[in-house]
Amino acid sequence: MKLKDKVAIVTGASKGIGKSIAIRYAEEGATVVLASRSEDLLASIASRIQDSGGRALALTVDVRRPESLEAVVRKTASEFGRLDIMINNAGISMVHPSEDLKPEDWQRALETDLFGVFYGCQSAARQMLSQASGGCIINISSMYGIIAAPMRAAYCASKAGANMLTKLLACEWAAKNIRVNAIAPGYIRTELVQGIIDKGMLPVGAIQKRTPQGRIGEVDDLLGIAVLLASDESSFMTGAVIPVDGGWSAYGYL
Ligand code: NAP
Repeated sequence: MKLKDKVAIVTGASKGIGKSIAIRYAEEGATVVLASRSEDLLASIASRIQDSGGRALALTVDVRRPESLEAVVRKTASEFGRLDIMINNAGISMVHPSEDLKPEDWQRALETDLFGVFYGCQSAARQMLSQASGGCIINISSMYGIIAAPMRAAYCASKAGANMLTKLLACEWAAKNIRVNAIAPGYIRTELVQGIIDKGMLPVGAIQKRTPQGRIGEVDDLLGIAVLLASDESSFMTGAVIPVDGGWSAYGYL
């Protein structure tokens, strides 16, 4: 129970990585606020957590709208008295030749993957700055915010921006007892990614070959670090962008 009595918000908690982090946080004793646009999915995950004896609340949010994130933070604070952990996980991918990327698609990706992270940090910090206990923020970025991949202009630019925001805000709020860190995953086998693999649209063999550890990541590979960064055991860590990618971003040989 490493997160006993903590209150956490997880954006993008309706599926994939966010859903798994939310369930794991609840197992570690946290009260979890699940946030995304899919009310029904969130409600069923919240029920599952409650049925297992945990505390969870489902709230809809669109991370592209600052007032929507602000409302989630305000509701969390009014229901549970404070906010200890903010996970800015909601995100979309976008793969398209850069010369043809439409302005509206570029904008949609940046609004979700970069602006949404900033608005989430901002809303969380406003609450955390009002608490003596401060808090911690974890941004889920990507190894593609550290290294480049063709046809992912909006995604790479957003994730690189999220990594820089992580460092900048960590420095800005360090003296105010707010820690900000990022997890930068490599390819992770969520339901969505598995679906793409099953359709033969992801070159799994080439990805495994390119990865020093020789495999695609599983969602469970992210949960330990997500708990550590949220717990008091990482109290001297802030401004860190941590790749969890089987060595992909470290590798620069043939
Ligand atoms: P996923 O299964 O597609 O889940 C994405 C989540 O984001 C969903 O819960 C979705 O919920 C939410 N979301 C999207 N747009 C939103 C918006 N405007 N407002 C609120 N919620 C929104 O993706 P995932 O693979 O778990 O990815 C989660 C994060 O990890 C993303 O930031 C992604 O870039 C990052 N990541 C993933 C991988 C990977 O291989 N899976 C690798 C590196 C980084 P609703 O549709 O219900 O709103």
